[in-house]
Amino acid sequence: MTCPRCGQAAAYHGDRERSPLGLFGPIRYRRAYYYCRRCGGLCPFDARAHLSARALTPAAERLATLAGGVADSFGKGADLLREMAGLRLSESTVERTTEDVGARLAALLAAGITFGPPVRWDWRRDARGRTVAYVTVDATGTRQQGPGGAAAEGRMAYVAGVYNPPPADGRRPAGAAPAVQARYVAGLYGLADVGPLLRRQAAQVGMEAAELWVALTDGGSGLEDFARHNFNRPDLVLILDFYHAASYLEKLARALHPADEAAAVAQARQWCQLLQEEGGATTLAVLREWAWPARQPAALRAQRAAVEEYFAKNVHRMEYPEYRAEGWQIGSGVVESACKTVVGQRLKGAGKRWGEDGAHALCHVRALYRSEKGQWEAFWQHQHASPPAVQQLN
Ligand SMILES: [Zn+2]
Repeated sequence: MTCPRCGQAAAYHGDRERSPLGLFGPIRYRRAYYYCRRCGGLCPFDARAHLSARALTPAAERLATLAGGVADSFGKGADLLREMAGLRLSESTVERTTEDVGARLAALLAAGITFGPPVRWDWRRDARGRTVAYVTVDATGTRQQGPGGAAAEGRMAYVAGVYNPPPADGRRPAGAAPAVQARYVAGLYGLADVGPLLRRQAAQVGMEAAELWVALTDGGSGLEDFARHNFNRPDLVLILDFYHAASYLEKLARALHPADEAAAVAQARQWCQLLQEEGGATTLAVLREWAWPARQPAALRAQRAAVEEYFAKNVHRMEYPEYRAEGWQIGSGVVESACKTVVGQRLKGAGKRWGEDGAHALCHVRALYRSEKGQWEAFWQHQHASPPAVQQLN
């Protein structure tokens, strides 16, 4: 055969046996072995059959990756595999397999590959009948472990998504609520690098066809610019995630009533209702005129300052009564849960520390798994769509 790496002839050196682990135990097979003098031994069958270097069949690799990605830890993943499939893999095999697959995913995404055919989501309509597409981006810290187990600076993982949420309650047809459609990208990327990845997913689901684009973020550094830059329509709507803003008010209420939980809850509810019904500017004005106690503990002063700063900075994206009247989402479960479920849940557990490559790889596995139904399958069935080779000029 011709060596695929260097193009030189590689001679056949007989058949070699191999026994990877499959879902029903070890599978023994023989395949042709070639030797290239420059590159070494080659077994082209393995690559064609998608048999990885870890000696797992594709089905076992897929299941090990799923377990490694969804369980609380790789050790729990190994337990799950044994319990549910009778598959006995060590914790480190589950970990390395999951990370291999994550690295493969990252490389495919970097090469512009998407999974499955292009689709066009049926974008849901707002109160004025316009179809609306949503994007979100969020950052979450991960604790890192440096070489040799030394503590290292935490890296930010970004989670970004394009999604199509069900309409708000009042405009939902009777019957079961339609599911949220979402696609996520996640990893230890620089924020600028997430943009092209998210835009590619957005293009894959026909975001261009939606009449209106809404970007929801939590006010984190650079996220608004990210949305403007990557989803550059003049009428792009920027909304500050309502639940994030509300969490500031909840903390303020607790600082005001540190010893009275019921009073804190009641106060938080009142302020959050004000925020929802009157918006950020009015809420901020009301808080500035509030009859604060004459002597304030440091915690209360600090939280008042935090609210002041956060609201003043984001007030232009806190016009919640208007957004609700338009029938837009002001903070959906998707935004709330993107970081928690895609990355946070798995990467931020107590005592978890990550090597940089491991965290990055796992982010990819989880983003794929949490994305809409069909994405996980398309990746494993090698339904990889290449980017157009020729750029069309308009
Ligand atoms: Zn070669």
